Amino acid sequence: MKYDYLIVGSGLFGAVFAHEATKKGKKCLVIDKRDHIGGNIYCEKIEDINVHKYGAHIFHTSNRKIWDYINRFAEFNQYINSPVAVYKDELYNLPFNMNTFSKMWNIRTPQEAQKIISEQIAKENITEPQNLEEQALSLVGRDVYEKLIKGYTQKQWGRKCTELPAFIIKRLPLRFTYDNNYFNDRYQGIPVGGYTPIIEQMLEGADVLLNTDYFDFIQKNPEITEKIIYTGMIDEYFGFSLGHLEYRTVRFETEVLDTDNYQGNAVVNYTEAEVPYTRIIEHKHFEFGKQPKTVISREYSSEWKPGIEPYYPINDERNSSLYAQYQALAQKEERVIFGGRLGQYKYYDMDKVIEAALDCVEKELN
Ligand code: FAD
Ligand code: UDP
Repeated sequence: MKYDYLIVGSGLFGAVFAHEATKKGKKCLVIDKRDHIGGNIYCEKIEDINVHKYGAHIFHTSNRKIWDYINRFAEFNQYINSPVAVYKDELYNLPFNMNTFSKMWNIRTPQEAQKIISEQIAKENITEPQNLEEQALSLVGRDVYEKLIKGYTQKQWGRKCTELPAFIIKRLPLRFTYDNNYFNDRYQGIPVGGYTPIIEQMLEGADVLLNTDYFDFIQKNPEITEKIIYTGMIDEYFGFSLGHLEYRTVRFETEVLDTDNYQGNAVVNYTEAEVPYTRIIEHKHFEFGKQPKTVISREYSSEWKPGIEPYYPINDERNSSLYAQYQALAQKEERVIFGGRLGQYKYYDMDKVIEAALDCVEKELN
C-alpha cells in the first residue's frame, strides 16, 4: 500500500481531512475529477477579482472553535452579507427587517410593522403550517410573501411553495430592528485573497492528482491505499443501483463589464417569477475591490441531470428515504468513509463541513 488514505475530492471536507491526517504523519493522496482544487469554494481570478466560480460563498459561524480553525489559514475581512431584493421596480433590504417593512408600508416603528404583520397573519388563519407557503404566510404575512418569497422560492426549487417543506424558509432571519445582516452568526467574513489559498495550504504535504476520476483510478490502482475518504456522490459510488438521488443545480452566466461598479452590492436577488435568474453576484464587493472593471454572475436554478454539477440536495421524503438506503450500504463498506455535501447528501454550510471533517478525523485518528 502506497498511501494510508486516498481522499476523493479536494473540496473543504477532503482538504481538512488531508491536512489533519498529514499532520499526524499519515500519507495522503487527494484526487479530484475537476481541473482545480477546492471543490465548490474555488475562486478564479478574472480582471484581478476573485470570482466565486460555483456561487457566492460567505463564511459565517457561531462556533468559536471553527472560526479559530479557519483563521489559521487566512485573514478574514469585515464583509457582512446584506443582500437587496428587486421586485419589479421596487427594491428592498434583506433579510426581512425594519428597512424592508419601512419601505413596503411607509412606516417607521417596530410596533407599526408588528401590527401590520400580525393582522395579515391573522387573516390567513393557519394553525399548523404544512408547507413553505403556509410557513411563510404565518411568519411574515401576505405582502412580504407575495413580493419577496413566492417567485424567488419557486425559481430556486422549481416547485410551488405549497409543495416544499416548511423548514427551508426558517433559515431566513426576521427582525424588528434596522439590521440588514443576512446571518445571525457571531463570526462572518470573506478570506482576503479568496478561498483557493486556504485549500492550497490545507493540502500541503499531501499528494494531489487533478483531472482524475475515482472510478477509473481505483480500477487501475486497486492496491494504492488502506482506506478511502469519499466526498463524491454516494449514489454514484454504488453505481446508482437503488436509483438516482435528486439535486437542484445552478448555472452561472459570468460577464466582465467595463464599469467599476455595476449594482453597488455583492448580492442582488430578483424575487419576481418573470425574471429568469434568481440573483446577480458582483464579486468585487466581497472584498471591497477597487479594480477598474467588474465581474458579475447571473444565477439560474434548474433540475439536475447526470453529467452536470449537483448543488443542493432535495430533502423531500423520496430522496431522504433513498439516501437512508444508500447509507445502509455505505455502512457495510469497511474501507470507505463517506463525507461532505455529496457523500452525506446533506446541505452543509462551510462551517458545518469543517466541523464534520474534524469529527471524522477525531474518530478515525485519535
Ligand atoms: P465539494 O466542494 O462539492 O467537493 C467535492 C469534490 O469532490 C469536488 O471537487 C468534486 O469534483 C470531487 N469529486 C466528486 N466526485 C468525484 C469523483 N468520482 N472522482 C474525483 N473527484 C470527485 N456555505 C457557506 O458556508 N456559505 C455560503 O455562502 C455558501 N454558499 C453556497 C452557494 C452555493 C451555490 C452552494 C451550492 C453551496 C454554498 N455553500 C455555502 C456550501 C458550501 O459550498 C459547502 O459547504 C462546501 O463547499 C462543501 O464541501 P465538500 O468538500 O463537502 O464538497
Ligand atoms: N428566500 C426567498 N427570497 C429571497 C431569499 C431567500 O424567498 O430573496 C427563501 C428561498 O426559499 C430560499 C430560502 O429562503 O430557498 C433560504 O435562503 P438562503 O439565502 O439561505 O438560500 P441559499 O441559497 O443559501 O440556500
